Amino acid sequence: MYDLVIRNAWVYDGAGNPPVKGDVAVRDGKIASIRHLGKEAALRSIDAGGLALSPGFVDLHNHLDMAVLGLPFMDSHTTQGVTTSLTGNCGLSMAPLADATRDLARRYLSPFIPSAAESDWKWNSFGDFTRRIEDVGIGHNLAGLVGQGSVRVAVKGFDPSPASESEMEAMKNLLRESLEEGAFGLSSGLIYPPGSFTEDRELEELASVLTEYGALYSTHMRNEGGVLIESVEAALELGRKCRVPVEISHHKATGRRNWGKLHRTLHMMELAREEGIDVCCDIYPYTAGSTTISALLPPFALEGGLEGALKRLTEPEARQQMKQELQNSRGDWENTLGNVGFENILICSSPEKTASQGKTLKELIDEHPQKDSPYEAFFDILLDMRCDATMAIFSMDEEEMEYGVTHPLSSIVSDAWATSPALGGRPHPRAYGTFPRFLRRFALDARRLSLENAIRKITSLPASRIGLSDRGLVKKGCWADLVLFDPKALRDRATYADPHQYPEGIEMVLVNGCIAVERGSVRESKAGRVLRRGQEECKLVKNTTLIDKTPLHGARP
Ligand SMILES: [Zn+2]
Repeated sequence: MYDLVIRNAWVYDGAGNPPVKGDVAVRDGKIASIRHLGKEAALRSIDAGGLALSPGFVDLHNHLDMAVLGLPFMDSHTTQGVTTSLTGNCGLSMAPLADATRDLARRYLSPFIPSAAESDWKWNSFGDFTRRIEDVGIGHNLAGLVGQGSVRVAVKGFDPSPASESEMEAMKNLLRESLEEGAFGLSSGLIYPPGSFTEDRELEELASVLTEYGALYSTHMRNEGGVLIESVEAALELGRKCRVPVEISHHKATGRRNWGKLHRTLHMMELAREEGIDVCCDIYPYTAGSTTISALLPPFALEGGLEGALKRLTEPEARQQMKQELQNSRGDWENTLGNVGFENILICSSPEKTASQGKTLKELIDEHPQKDSPYEAFFDILLDMRCDATMAIFSMDEEEMEYGVTHPLSSIVSDAWATSPALGGRPHPRAYGTFPRFLRRFALDARRLSLENAIRKITSLPASRIGLSDRGLVKKGCWADLVLFDPKALRDRATYADPHQYPEGIEMVLVNGCIAVERGSVRESKAGRVLRRGQEECKLVKNTTLIDKTPLHGARP
């Protein structure tokens, strides 16, 4: 007797093989059989009617940990077909925290957390936090990285000075303890203070701990614009020196003058792989990025965290220096504003100034009394918002993004925060649309990838990056994380103007064998599990095999 049988589906195995018509049976949360099952008994039997059945999608890069205690079903992701999320990216993780620096950590992370999802911050270790998540229960599986920024805040707050020997030991111990408690690796966010204060030497010391565990280093690099090439070289050098697998986060070239560089950086990664460095990257299928608005400021303005920035925004001398650095940066920091201009930055959410949501900075400056001094107006706007806002940055080239998402080295990710229609604001549409959009645009419509290869890039490839060997595949014995979708109807609906739109065409999502989404709606099943490195069926992350069974461009019908 099976718990559930899905009959008559085109089954995509997630490994990139062409689909096979058949039935999939589920028992005790796992895939029990894949074949023609005839009339074998099951508690529930679903006729798929020839729709596509694939492994649940694995999102290697998002920030769901920040809101999961308040939004445990993570609807915006689960309805896309995501069944496993890797969180704690970009140096920003909710744990570990330390008593002495808890408030600083809160200030570090809260710009990214919707106020409705605020929590009591009463945990310390990575293990404590994951147990809190388990107490609440979750809609799909979560695995976590430790943020290098969070570790540094725990040990030395926003102090920009290099770590002393004892501070370094304390950081390494926090990382080691988190890895012992199930973290899958370390993430860095080298544009955000205190990540931006961190020297390569400090990163190498931390990476040496990862080497002991064979765990992943995932990096939001120092620069994705003028100094992109050098930043990729630095990430590869860390992989080379410390022998750690490297994941380059949300890979892109920002700013028109840097367009074209992705061809070079992906080639650098191909060469590095030949040399034995296990490097891959992840990319979202949009030409706009999104982050907190304070990331527009030069690093000196952010010393002391947001409090420091708010203070400097009231000081004429500091304003003058900010303006100078914004106008004449020499590539020693990531000057997003200089790369894209006020007109390409759209305010997504601003709790203090909701009227600014959906407007570009250029539009807000034009409405401002100081519109003839755009930088003065801009600083006033930041102050009005208390620097508490998120933005979408239109900075990428369409053709280049397409090259990136179809490249064999990339997994497709959302880079999104958890959201919900009730939270309002205008989050980046990737929060609701990433995975259906990727399949629709690149496999089903443009056919730049075969559907089986596109599915591989959102299932087994990302799962293998964190060593999960029993997810991301439709295979007997693997967890029954499954997505049943209609290739004819599948599409994303979220737009920048109207982002809170669930996708169409996702008929059913199974998480650990339980139905989490049925006909597009979330069932409040809380079937997700916290995944812990060491407790899962994990292989050591070691040169991820890249199988491309179909040609990249213009392949199968
Ligand atoms: Zn990032």
